[in-house]
Amino acid sequence: MDALSFLPIGGASLLQAAQWYGAFVLALFLGARLLPGIMRPGQSLKDGTRLRYKLSGLVLFVGTHAALAAGVLFGDWSLRPLLAHFPSLFVVANIWALVVTIYLMWSAWSKGEGRLIQTRGSRIKAAALDIWLGAELNPSFAGVDLKMHMYHPSLIGLVVLNAAFPFAQYEIYGAVTTEMWLYQGFVWAYIFTHYIREDFMLTTWDIIAERFGFMLVWGDLVYVPFLYSMVGWWVLGRGWSPAEDGGWVHEPWPIAGVFALVALHLFFHWVFRGANWQKDKFKRDNSVHIWGKPAEALGGRLLVSGWWGIGRKINYTGELGVYLSFSLCAGFDSAWPYFLPFTLLILLLQRAWRDDRKCREKYGPLWDEYCKRTHFRVIPFLY
Ligand code: NDP
Repeated sequence: MDALSFLPIGGASLLQAAQWYGAFVLALFLGARLLPGIMRPGQSLKDGTRLRYKLSGLVLFVGTHAALAAGVLFGDWSLRPLLAHFPSLFVVANIWALVVTIYLMWSAWSKGEGRLIQTRGSRIKAAALDIWLGAELNPSFAGVDLKMHMYHPSLIGLVVLNAAFPFAQYEIYGAVTTEMWLYQGFVWAYIFTHYIREDFMLTTWDIIAERFGFMLVWGDLVYVPFLYSMVGWWVLGRGWSPAEDGGWVHEPWPIAGVFALVALHLFFHWVFRGANWQKDKFKRDNSVHIWGKPAEALGGRLLVSGWWGIGRKINYTGELGVYLSFSLCAGFDSAWPYFLPFTLLILLLQRAWRDDRKCREKYGPLWDEYCKRTHFRVIPFLY
């Protein structure tokens, strides 16, 4: 990290960051509004109706790659300046998260939605809960569903920020290392597999049940792109030492380590997406085949075939393993790259506990039977 210095947060850097960030979020929004997408119905709402979502994530993902490739090939762009302006971009993204939240509150309250309008009691507490947890379930702007849309500046923003690391490594050290390619490949694959089945998001808890407030907005706009890319800083500088000729030498990874890391990533990626896609398929049609056999379900409702017969929250296990594979690309010189899987571990363990309570309430004895059938919740032998 020492070979790379940040530009201090100040007028010029903030202005530059605001221009880049503004152009990026505007392009994504216009793309979502104007470009074609796959139309999919959401889950049934309380009043029995269903929203129709235009899923344009893959188009935006590919379009962003095309724009960056064109800039690099024909405009001689380097993405390294994104890292120099990282602190200012961070400030701008936080300000944007506040602006979006202010819009969401204004929009919800003017439509009579939210605790502040609908419940009695402390106004301050109701307003604070609305701001933090959200007031409206499915807010939209100019026909674009905002909860689904915010995944784009989040995940595509992460792809763009991450792509700055190999540029910086090449410009500083003169080469891009194997672990940098691995790190880039792993994160890219994680986001690509998100977008090839974007419709899966329509059955997740966040889309179905969570209102849209600062907590989720900040998570999308700041936490994901800026914290998830944190590992990249350590991958950038890993293994380099000054050479006698004034250049740099890099200590390569053993080839067996590279294969082991790729295998670990592929395995957990398979568990993570495989489990989510199995449940999604089952929820749409419970006569599906899983791993070549008709799906088995307790009471016709709780899937016990495939990954769901092994762990009750095995999709969380898979995602934690995927994040661990990102961090392992940075080696073991510092504990900081492991901050990401560590925070996700805390978040998902708490979420698994909450979901377990919710399911026990909803499914009663069927859930107890399910608990007996499966061996663990998230971590084999431990939890
Ligand atoms: P899940 O997709 O695991 O959904 C849980 C719900 O699925 C339960 O409430 C229950 O709902 C249903 N369900 C549970 N077990 C079964 C079963 N055996 N058969 C049928 N239905 C079952 O949870 P999330 O929405 O929390 O997570 C979705 C994905 O998002 C996960 O992969 C997770 O790792 C990821 N995630 C990532 C985060 C991040 O920051 N990176 C944060 C949060 C989630 P029902 O009442 O409908 O039956």
